[in-house]
Amino acid sequence: MLRLSLAQGLRTIATTATTTTPQCSRLQGKVAIVTASTDGIGFSIARRLAQEGAKVMISSRKEKNVNQAVEILTREGLKVSGLVCHVGKAEDRARLFLETKAQFGGLDILVSNAAANPAVGPVLECQEAVWDKIFDVNVKSTFMLMKEALPLLRERKSSSIIIVSSVAAYQPFNLLGVYSITKTSLLALCKTVADDLASESIRVNCIAPGIIKTKFSTPLYESEAAHDLAMSKIPLQRLGTTDEIAGIAAFLASEDASYITGETIVGAGGMLSRL
Ligand code: NAP
Repeated sequence: MLRLSLAQGLRTIATTATTTTPQCSRLQGKVAIVTASTDGIGFSIARRLAQEGAKVMISSRKEKNVNQAVEILTREGLKVSGLVCHVGKAEDRARLFLETKAQFGGLDILVSNAAANPAVGPVLECQEAVWDKIFDVNVKSTFMLMKEALPLLRERKSSSIIIVSSVAAYQPFNLLGVYSITKTSLLALCKTVADDLASESIRVNCIAPGIIKTKFSTPLYESEAAHDLAMSKIPLQRLGTTDEIAGIAAFLASEDASYITGETIVGAGGMLSRL
């Protein structure tokens, strides 16, 4: 029974991302942490960084998901390990860094990818506790991860932080106002910390994905009305794929982006992206 559900899970994740192997290996010798990396964008980023040569620590809240993701990527011959880490839990984050150091010897690349969105509706109708929860997961945990990663990042010659924001940072998604506000806050967090760490050659950048086909974004494309609304805003006239965001992450983490810090790369099929 357990075997059957594991196999089903493996099939589900494997079909949400393509497995074309990239032709470059820009991250040989690097070690990466990608949070929320057992599905969707985080999983594709973890896979792409590993395909380019990095050793990658996978994590998310559920052990079953961590085991599935590690199994898929290990079967592909990639160097990954995994553990449970809810980004909002201090003890989980502490273990994430300890285990990464113990298993892989250090840290060069931190990708902060987790987000929550428990509120749908007008911003001023959001309950205080819900507001706090969204800010805790989306903004505070990114701040804490960056702070806690710093001692390890400082040990390396050229290290970098990548924050997954959203095109909603620029143009709020309909009824996802609080989520959108947290994503705008991440742009400011990125700029500010990038300035602080520039003198140490630690680069900090953001990615702002558009509507990418994952579980998280299902309400933005599943119904015909939602799909039509999305298409009316996307000049390229299609949803993005997780691999398209993973390619941006690999570029930002690599030496090809050695002169880029404090920036946000928008991968949104041409959607509006001006504040
Ligand atoms: P997804 O496919 O639903 O995957 C979510 C992943 O996050 C899962 O691996 C989940 O695993 C993990 N997770 C959820 N809450 C977590 C927490 N508190 N701590 C650690 N892991 C957690 O989501 P996605 O669409 O890839 O979204 C990833 C990021 O991209 C988010 O920051 C989102 O805001 C951003 N983004 C997405 C889109 C889009 O259209 N998809 C657009 C713009 C921005 P567990 O359940 O095991 O924890």
